[in-house]
Amino acid sequence: MNPDDAISNVRQRIAEAAQRSGRSADDVRLIAVSKRQPVAAIEALIACGQRDFGENQVQEAIDKIEHLQDRPVEWHFIGHLQSNKTRDIGGNFSWVHTVDSVKLARRIATSAEQAGRVVKLLLQVNVSSDPAKHGIEQADLFPLIDTLLEEQLKTVRLCGLMTIGRRSATETETRASFACLRDLLEQSRRQFGDSFSELSMGMSGDFELAVEEGATMVRVGTALFGHRV
Ligand SMILES: *Cc1c(COP(=O)(O)O)cnc(C)c1O
Repeated sequence: MNPDDAISNVRQRIAEAAQRSGRSADDVRLIAVSKRQPVAAIEALIACGQRDFGENQVQEAIDKIEHLQDRPVEWHFIGHLQSNKTRDIGGNFSWVHTVDSVKLARRIATSAEQAGRVVKLLLQVNVSSDPAKHGIEQADLFPLIDTLLEEQLKTVRLCGLMTIGRRSATETETRASFACLRDLLEQSRRQFGDSFSELSMGMSGDFELAVEEGATMVRVGTALFGHRV
């Protein structure tokens, strides 16, 4: 599929899923996951009006970001991030979706401060308790938010939650885990304030379910770019 058709197809499916659940397509941000895709493929999507891109390896991302410096692109870090790999985050990424510890948030805050920027953070929750996944357990979420807010880090902003659906799950299980993350976001918003507004969930295989269950960000790779190299 050419990039124009691929992106129209995905946008159309997002719009239909949003409509089914009484939401607006404008409430869902499409993040094109460009990991292991060449710069040319990213440029093709930029030409189709795509603005948000997601990467999961720091060095690979930085090489691409340098190539695309003058482009109107917002970069999202969506991979597992070790706290010793955060040095270049603040200068390159607007969002980190995969925060799972106080230590990591502190390190990102330091890199953002050095870059003179503010990085928006999502906390990754392992709602399906998948042993293959990173992210915190549900029970640890509110204590982590409490601690993070006490730290008063000025160069990061807590904006919401993220999860990755279990690959082998049935549709019912996937929907349940997305609904669970939405409940956790609503509870977080009541307890900690309106800044908890973003729900990053859904990939090529399940983004329509995620939109129906309230996703405000979907992370779509292969459905936009085809298979990764
Ligand atoms: C790779 C990846 C995606 C995109 O996966 P596709 O199935 O290609 O859409 C989304 N989220 C995360 C965290 C990923 O690592």
